[in-house]
Amino acid sequence: MGKKKLSRRQVLKVSGAAGAVVGSAGLGLFGYEAGKDPESYTGCEVQEGACQTFNRARYEVDRPHYEKVGPTSRPDARTEVVFMRRGAFSQQWHDETGIDGLSEHLQAFYREHPEALELDRYRQDHILPKRRIDAPKYRDDYILAEAWSRAMGAVSPPGIDGPPEKSDFPGGQAEPLKMKGPRRTSKLIKQMAHQFGSVLVGIARLNPDWVYRYPMRGRGFAADEPVEVPKHWQFAVVVGTPMSWDAVAANPTFGTSNDAYSKSRIVAYRLAAFIKALGYAARPHTPGASYDLMVPPIMVDAGLAEQGRHSIAITPELGCNFRPAVVTTNLPLQPDKPIDFGVQDFCRSCKICAKNCPAGAITTGEKEEVRGYLRYPVCSEKCHNFWDSCLGNMGCRLCVAVCPYSRKSNWLHTTALDVTANDPTGLSHKALAGLQERLYPGPDPEKYFIPSLGGENATYREPPWWLRSEDFIVPPAAKDTVPSAAKDTDKDAG
Ligand code: SF4
Ligand code: SF4
Repeated sequence: MGKKKLSRRQVLKVSGAAGAVVGSAGLGLFGYEAGKDPESYTGCEVQEGACQTFNRARYEVDRPHYEKVGPTSRPDARTEVVFMRRGAFSQQWHDETGIDGLSEHLQAFYREHPEALELDRYRQDHILPKRRIDAPKYRDDYILAEAWSRAMGAVSPPGIDGPPEKSDFPGGQAEPLKMKGPRRTSKLIKQMAHQFGSVLVGIARLNPDWVYRYPMRGRGFAADEPVEVPKHWQFAVVVGTPMSWDAVAANPTFGTSNDAYSKSRIVAYRLAAFIKALGYAARPHTPGASYDLMVPPIMVDAGLAEQGRHSIAITPELGCNFRPAVVTTNLPLQPDKPIDFGVQDFCRSCKICAKNCPAGAITTGEKEEVRGYLRYPVCSEKCHNFWDSCLGNMGCRLCVAVCPYSRKSNWLHTTALDVTANDPTGLSHKALAGLQERLYPGPDPEKYFIPSLGGENATYREPPWWLRSEDFIVPPAAKDTVPSAAKDTDKDAG
């Protein structure tokens, strides 16, 4: 067949089409390459390197900052975790029988700590009745905050339903997959944690001192003997997600821990499911579904944080504005090293949390021995008493809000972090803490209490627009008296 000659017009058409194809392919290729660059992420992605931004390698140390100064012991959560103890106390306490009417472990605890009994009774007899008077009076101001808190806590995985040797292991007979070494596995686990929604992730070899003596989920509550730490709890993977900055600043009444509890809980359950799918044991310890261990020292061991004067872990990225969860596992991992980025020195002189705590629960003094380790003691009874002395949904979090490390990650904050982390003299610590107090003062601590207890329902900062009930909701009592023109508040709400 002879060649057909193309007209000029046809040649132009064909070359135009070819040019378009090549052009599109080039653009596509360029776009694909550009899209692979992490800088092209739009902000929805939670990615390693994009969220855990602090270069920890520069601040790694061989030993965590807490010091062992005596024989150590594991905590008894039935008495030392204030919510657990007070739950039992409120059911068992009767004025006629007094301390003798309590279960044995409560009796032993209160005889050793009479000040705790006094504070537990004060809450029950004095604070809670006053709160019952004020809550309905001021409820309208917090309708949106309460609805938000409930919504954030609405999704919850099922609790742990068996002892560790059963519930932690994957079902079926599958052998654990052979992994290509702990270093690679750790990299994979961290990336998965980020994919599952975690902003922070670190790995520690589990120190048994952080595991509760009593109780352990799935083993029963009233065991006579302390529960042994399961042998397969070799490593702890810690994850963490932040709480909304604007709501945290409006504590104690507008914030909610459910905000980040829910996110960290979901991450931990996803991570445990992933590890089990590889054939290894995993147990999530999460807010809202309970823990068998203490989290802050594990965060320290995992190189994510240092523990502050307020006893909460402080991370370089989020300060203490986050909520963590832990997964214990036998998947062979490479632990991270603890870090020292200057928090211990800073806390020594700062004391802002202690001065602003309405309960006086945080010490302005020195560290003390607690179960064999040196740390700042916090009076959990006084702290919890304040939770019931304000109208917040879930506690207080003022110490999170006022801590100078809990700031948005702008250039000012990262520069201050760099300076304080590298200042052996401590001069910058005093200067920055002083500046913070002068530039950003909060209300007097007594104003945070409910009016029946002498306060004004104050908040550290004003609530964000989306939590101001008065801009969206007609107060139930005033429903019939509001003029119809004032009822559509939509245009003012933003
Ligand atoms: S407020 Fe100051 S003293 Fe308290 S934990 Fe934060 S840095 Fe430390
Ligand atoms: S949560 Fe509130 S009451 Fe408790 S220690 Fe922190 S500031 Fe004090």
